[in-house]
Amino acid sequence: MPLYQIHAAIEQRTEAIREAHPDWPCRKGCDDCCRSLASEPLLSEPEWSLLRPALSGELLQRIAANANAPRPVTCPLLDRETGACLVYAVRPLACRSYGYYAERGKVLGCHRIEAVAAADDSILWGNHTALDRETSAFGPAKPLSEWAMSVIR
Ligand code: SF4
Ligand code: SF4
Repeated sequence: MPLYQIHAAIEQRTEAIREAHPDWPCRKGCDDCCRSLASEPLLSEPEWSLLRPALSGELLQRIAANANAPRPVTCPLLDRETGACLVYAVRPLACRSYGYYAERGKVLGCHRIEAVAAADDSILWGNHTALDRETSAFGPAKPLSEWAMSVIR
């Protein structure tokens, strides 16, 4: 399945969840997850090809400077003042599904999402295992800084 179709499928799932739960915690400016990443974002080649044109020279430098940052990592693509993603329209798959998908019974999200999951067992979470299966065709995901440095050099 091409990347744009996967994006559409994720969008459909997240929209459905938001419609069924208008007070869903994920919203613009809620950036705890972008400030406490286990590692810098990982992207497959098609995701990088989509993201690359949105990156200015300044952003590329910021990404490169953030390589090997200690955990928890703040994403270099976050606008730290507004809490908004600077590349929202072309953000990686992991960012699109986080807060809305589950894997082997465990939701992928922050403590707010875990609390929602614990309080409501009617939520139709996205299937992260199926998503991984779909995206495995894109090849290995690499750190954002590795992609950035390949075009800076
Ligand atoms: S996963 Fe948590 S921190 Fe991230 S946007 Fe959703 S509610 Fe906010
Ligand atoms: S790319 Fe955007 S949504 Fe993803 S972690 Fe970075 S700032 Fe957050």
